[in-house]
Amino acid sequence: MKKIAVMTSGGDAPGMNAGIRAVTRTALQKGLEVVGIYRGYQGMIEGDFIPLDRFRVSNIIQRGGTFLKTARSEEFRTVEGRAKAAAHLKKEGIEALVVIGGDGSFRGAAALHAEHGIQVVGCPGTIDNDLYGTDYTIGYDTAVNTAVQAIDQIRDTADSHNRLFFVEVMGRDAGFIALRTGLASGAESVLVPETTTYIDELITKLEEGRKLKKASAIIIVAEGDDEGGALDIAKKVNEKFDAWETKVTVLGHIQRGGSPTAFDRILASRMGNSAVEALLKGSTNVMIGQRNNEMVEVPFTQASKHHETLNPHLLELVEILS
Ligand code: ATP
Repeated sequence: MKKIAVMTSGGDAPGMNAGIRAVTRTALQKGLEVVGIYRGYQGMIEGDFIPLDRFRVSNIIQRGGTFLKTARSEEFRTVEGRAKAAAHLKKEGIEALVVIGGDGSFRGAAALHAEHGIQVVGCPGTIDNDLYGTDYTIGYDTAVNTAVQAIDQIRDTADSHNRLFFVEVMGRDAGFIALRTGLASGAESVLVPETTTYIDELITKLEEGRKLKKASAIIIVAEGDDEGGALDIAKKVNEKFDAWETKVTVLGHIQRGGSPTAFDRILASRMGNSAVEALLKGSTNVMIGQRNNEMVEVPFTQASKHHETLNPHLLELVEILS
């Protein structure tokens, strides 16, 4: 193998730049040439490539987002789109690919391998942490820290005014961000898609808190909760409980941005390094995961969403400590 490519795909996540840097520098150190592909699979279809040397990836480890940009590509979902993409790779002499992205990106990589023989390895890059086979995904820790910082500020004002705050965090299908954010910010309750939300139980809990003369309450809501987003839930609670002034904050895209935490930089550096090592030993169709602080290879077929479950003890801990 002489030449490999690296790209970012799907939703952006802080730490992706650190991953690109690690792939590039590891590959160069092993005597390989490295090409960066702009805008994920769409850039691959258009042949939008850039040669990467060690200086091209200087001064990016601390930057959020991805300097290679990311995109979603409908065309790559077609056999013809993938043929165009593979033709560009072959013309450039690229034999193998590292994809930093989510499970959709890995499905795309698997198709590229099946139809065109390109060797493919993935690194999990998504703030949602919802991929099976890894304890953490690149970007998750930063997203949680950003949310916690915002909630610390909300808590100051909540306490001063006896307010009930509903804070919505990202997580359409998974409550990982909500759970960790709730634990770290001392929230009263965390509402996640994985469990049924009972509005009456929530109200009973708020009533108990009020009787204990609590100054305020913060409820963390994952955007995909079965009772709706933070606005819907606030409305439902307010119909029966209006002792405190209620405020709703939707954190939204601030959770995606910002400089990656040290944890995410290190995770991405280790994963990028392991991805190149996996390619060199002939692995393909695998995602690099972290299990018990070790880098492991997880087949793409296992690394899909919805497999990993929330730790029920942590959910219980929120209730015990609130
Ligand atoms: P995130 O978790 O942030 O959504 P993701 O990688 O799962 O990241 P997707 O939009 O699902 O994001 O996938 C990224 C791209 O991968 C798609 O735009 C598409 O080009 C390609 N892709 C996804 N699924 C397939 C598939 N089954 N076959 C071929 N290509 C696919």
